[in-house]
Amino acid sequence: MRFDILTLFPETIEAVLGDSIIGRARKKGLIEVNCVQIRDFAFNKHKSVDDYPYGGGTGMVMQAEPIFLAYEDVCKGLDYKPKTIYLSPQGRTFRQGTAKRLAREGHIILICGHYEGVDQRVLDEIVDCEISLGDFVLTGGEIAAMAVVDAVSRLVPGVLKSEDSFSEESHYNGFLEYPQYTRPEEWHGRRVPDILLSGHHKNICKWKREMSIINTFNKRRGMLSRASLSQSEKDFIENLKGKKSES
Ligand code: SAM
Repeated sequence: MRFDILTLFPETIEAVLGDSIIGRARKKGLIEVNCVQIRDFAFNKHKSVDDYPYGGGTGMVMQAEPIFLAYEDVCKGLDYKPKTIYLSPQGRTFRQGTAKRLAREGHIILICGHYEGVDQRVLDEIVDCEISLGDFVLTGGEIAAMAVVDAVSRLVPGVLKSEDSFSEESHYNGFLEYPQYTRPEEWHGRRVPDILLSGHHKNICKWKREMSIINTFNKRRGMLSRASLSQSEKDFIENLKGKKSES
């Protein structure tokens, strides 16, 4: 899996994506992350990449040409068009399902805007879709691009130790994950649930599934209406609803 991130702040991205699990995956060659400095493709002697917006208004707009030249440089010699994404508060909200779909792509280009945004014409020319991190406005697309690279990369085979590491996690199968505990067995008078210390694999699996449903019920109930549930799980949820209305 290859990512090319078109940005004015490559150091910011390297500082984050050079470490930990993603950093190790890069070193092992499981994923490739290249940061492309858009300013290197500026066509004026001051290396500026932004200008005043036509029609007036506050702030500056990133010009089309440097971004286009950076994009062309990445695509040089390729016989396919990499999936090209503009990080934008106007895009579709990034979700685990988006990460799953993007993990099937071989090569993704991420464009980080800054200032008031990017000249629409280059977006119309090269961008396949816009992705938003959420309904709020960031100063630049870098944090969103890093979130996309991180969430997609951990789904690439080999990046995590086993597929269980992500397939049981929140959002992967429409549920939130069960609570996690580690040593010591007791902390501030709070004990780890006995079942997790029992060594009884089948009962532990059942507990994890139930706790996952309870967590989802308590924190994000709307997700349960879209989840795939057995009849006994549906009954379990009805029971939870009954308890809730009694209390
Ligand atoms: N004027 C733009 C608007 O109202 O839609 C917002 C520009 S924002 C200040 C600058 C850049 O940050 C954008 O070009 C985009 O790349 C990035 N950005 C801001 N909010 C974002 C979000 N929620 N998700 C992804 N990228 C975002």
